[in-house]
Amino acid sequence: MVMANCPFCGSEKIKIDKKSVRDGYTELGERVERHTFSVRCNRCYARGPAVGGRVIHYLRSDLPLPKWATTDKTLEERAVEAWNRRAQEKNDPLVLDELRQMDGQPVFIEHDILPKFNHVWVVWNNQVSDDIHDGLDGYGIFWRAYRYPPIKEET
Ligand SMILES: [Zn+2]
Repeated sequence: MVMANCPFCGSEKIKIDKKSVRDGYTELGERVERHTFSVRCNRCYARGPAVGGRVIHYLRSDLPLPKWATTDKTLEERAVEAWNRRAQEKNDPLVLDELRQMDGQPVFIEHDILPKFNHVWVVWNNQVSDDIHDGLDGYGIFWRAYRYPPIKEET
């Protein structure tokens, strides 16, 4: 699963943190641990929601997974999903007031009509809005600006 860039600083240096504490034994004597995963930005240290569960340390492949247990793989996937969801929420299209405040800063444009301006980075200013469209009419209708490229849903 692809991890979204950091919604706070835009960094691609994203890492998965795992914490582990002992949590007893199964009736078969296998060690049980409570593992907590979260996704973290290595640049600004923003952290995604933590996802935890009980993991059997040496899971025998010939036995079914008990209802109370999960696996590292599942926890990791859920932590990445939670991070991506947060990143996507944070990266909603800019509302007009927010866009006006982006003067001199890069924004990512989606344009439904002009391919030339679809999925491109531009440095925002009033001239740019005239180039993309005749002023800001149609903003939010034909075209939108984002702080970061929106994440495409996986199909
Ligand atoms: Zn960051």
